This record gives sequence, C-alpha cells and structure tokens, in this order.
Amino acid sequence: MAKPRFEVTTLGTGAALPARGRYPTAQLVHANGGLYLLDCGEGTQERLRNAGTNFMRIGHVFISHLHGDHYLGLMGLISSMHLMGRTAKLHVHGPPDLQPIIDIQLRASQTYLRYPLEFHPIHPTNGAPAWSDERVRVTVLVMRHRLPCTGFLFEEQPAPRPLRKDMAPLIPHFKRSAVKAGEDLLFPDGRIIANAELTHEPPKPRRYAFCSDTAPVPELLEMIAGVDLLYHEATFTEQLARRAKETMHSTAAQAASLALQADVGHLLLGHFSSRYKDAEELLAEARAIFSRTSASEDGATYPVIERTIV
Ligand SMILES: [Zn+2]
Repeated sequence: MAKPRFEVTTLGTGAALPARGRYPTAQLVHANGGLYLLDCGEGTQERLRNAGTNFMRIGHVFISHLHGDHYLGLMGLISSMHLMGRTAKLHVHGPPDLQPIIDIQLRASQTYLRYPLEFHPIHPTNGAPAWSDERVRVTVLVMRHRLPCTGFLFEEQPAPRPLRKDMAPLIPHFKRSAVKAGEDLLFPDGRIIANAELTHEPPKPRRYAFCSDTAPVPELLEMIAGVDLLYHEATFTEQLARRAKETMHSTAAQAASLALQADVGHLLLGHFSSRYKDAEELLAEARAIFSRTSASEDGATYPVIERTIV
C-alpha cells in the first residue's frame, strides 16, 4: 500500500537580512492532503505561487516567533485569502503577542474578513500539544532564542492496523473499523480473538521536527530522538561561533552534533546568513559530523522518509 504523502517544501531558507536567491523563512508541510504553513516571512505569497500552491488549501499557519523574517508575510497572506473569497476557517498558531498585531492591522485597514480566523496562542512548553486532526499531531518544541520561540514536531496520526488476510473473513464488516483501530473481536457467545491475531503492525508514524531560530538546545534531544527528518537552523559556520552565540543562533556543526546525538533519519539545514553566497561551506561542516545532511534550497521539496535503522 502506498504511503500517504508527507513532505516539506522549504519556500525560504534565508535569515534576517535579504540575500540574493533566498527568501526568509517559510515552509509548507504537506501531510496526506492537508497543508500547514510554518512561518511566513516576507515574500511567502510569491513563493507559494511559484510552488503552484492553492492558498485556499492552507488550513493552518504556525509562527515560531516574532522576529520579522519569520512572520512579516502573514498579513499579506491573510489579506489575499480575504480578497480571493476564502470562506473556510484559517487557524493561526503563534506567540500570544501575534493576535493583537493581526487585529490592529485588520482594524486600521477596516478589513472585515470573510472567513473566520481562529487564533491559537502557543506557550513555550516542551511537549505541549499544539494541534491535532485526522492527519497529524503537532507538538511544541522550546527553542532558545532572544525572543520566546517555539519549534514544531509534526507526527502522522497512526495508520489503521492492516487486517491479516487469513483472519479477515472472520471479521464482520461492521466490526472492521474497530478492529483496524486496535480493538479485540468479541463474539456474542463470549469468545474473544485478540487484536494481535487479527492485524499486522501498521507502519510507524513518520515525524518531522522544525527547529528555528535557536541556539543549541540539549534538552531537545529527548523530544526529537529518532525523528525521520530534522530541520535545524544553521545560520553560521564554526568560524563565527561567537557571533552565533551572541545572536542565539546555531552553527552548522552544532546542528549536526544534535542530529548525531538524536540519531535522526536526515538533517536539513537552513536559515543561512546572507554572508554565505551558497550553502557549500555550511553543508561540508555539518556533513563532517553527520553525513545524512542536506542544505535546504528555496522552493525544493523534501519527503519525510521513514527512518531506516542502520
Ligand atoms: Zn529570530
């Protein structure tokens, strides 16, 4: 059976200052037909257009923190959705201060949105649930930055347990969804067949962790251990480790060390300082520590592939 689609498009891979060929942070997570936007830097609308994304299909926006390069594109997107006649609810998740920022801009422009916008304040508590629907569960990861900042852990909802071919004929149709959900089979005469005899183990839910912006956070290890794909900021190389520390960012080597210790499936670097013309140097530094690393590119899509134990 084909796995549902689960992938990440990095719409912007730059840091705070404009850089040629790089937009500020925004990512689109595509999970089994649902679209979730992570951060919304300037130019995100244009990046979404280039990626061929229908804005109306975005159900949720998650904002990590209130530095401009992570959310200054949000009002434009909210406004465009209004002008395009959106009627479906939009969920915006972010730091509590984001709500009055949105409200005052709508009020000042006398915009009465045609669609409901539901704001969900995010408080920085590791492991706190941020959202759950039929496709994914989203959990808060606490970053270490100059402002309150959170990352997000996206985990697929568990797939139904596949029925064993030899046992399937024994299961009445009206009981099948309960058995696929893990229930034992109870017969009117009192007999019970344990679920383990009726079903196979389903594939493990895939997980994607988004960590930006942040200085290294060793406490994250437990939260992201074994994730299939880790996006971690790598604003600088080790040569600028002091600058990274001052600005509460990470070096490529620090991101790679975390990936190594957490034994993740794959590491994706991003949030590159505008001083780097390309990401070669950052990528080489990280790969020397953790070989399963890629440097994210604007507009590229990365599948969340189930981590294979090596
Ligand atoms: Zn920041």
